[in-house]
Amino acid sequence: MKILEEKILSEGIAVNEDILKVDSFVNHQVDPVLMHQIGEAFAAHYKDCGVTKVVTIESSGIAPALMTALALNVPMIILKKQPSKVLNDNLYQTVITSFTKGTSYELTLSQQFINENDHVLIVDDFLANGEAATGAIRLLRKAHATIAGVGILIEKSFQPGRGKLMEQGIDVYSLARISKLGKDLIEFIPEEE
Ligand code: 5GP
Repeated sequence: MKILEEKILSEGIAVNEDILKVDSFVNHQVDPVLMHQIGEAFAAHYKDCGVTKVVTIESSGIAPALMTALALNVPMIILKKQPSKVLNDNLYQTVITSFTKGTSYELTLSQQFINENDHVLIVDDFLANGEAATGAIRLLRKAHATIAGVGILIEKSFQPGRGKLMEQGIDVYSLARISKLGKDLIEFIPEEE
């Protein structure tokens, strides 16, 4: 997605060879116009796939996931990192290890919101090692839902996430695919025609 690549080039900061900071339009301040366009792009890709729900992981995936759900006219569900104190019955849970942050967290989904009739599109901000997306898929499978695909804003293609998801037969649709990061350097895999 040209407009996302341009935004990454103008405002993204390569912290090192592994981590890209996009705090001015995704992770801290959020660009609503860009999020709207991102939602439309995911919806266009998945419009004929029978998506019943869009699912994201708290918290940076919420803005693009909501815009995607709006465009597809389906509900959006947030997988919670902290189980709610009032909603602690009938939960599906799984542990995710974040290599980026060097931490583990528990991901929670209420049984109320997903069932075997759901065909789910997962939307997240980054794809790196694929741990977050794989954990989300594990959780959705506990609820007997099927996966329509994984929509990613920024894929770091030099990390193994895409390969891990494709090995499981998951459709991965990334709007910007970074082949290389470094000091003052952000390179993309050219978009397919
Ligand atoms: P994964 O589970 O695929 O290794 O990492 C995905 C999650 O880690 C994303 O949801 C995102 O929150 C975070 N993440 C991974 N790499 C980056 C990065 O380069 N920049 C930022 N801002 N977040 C990242």
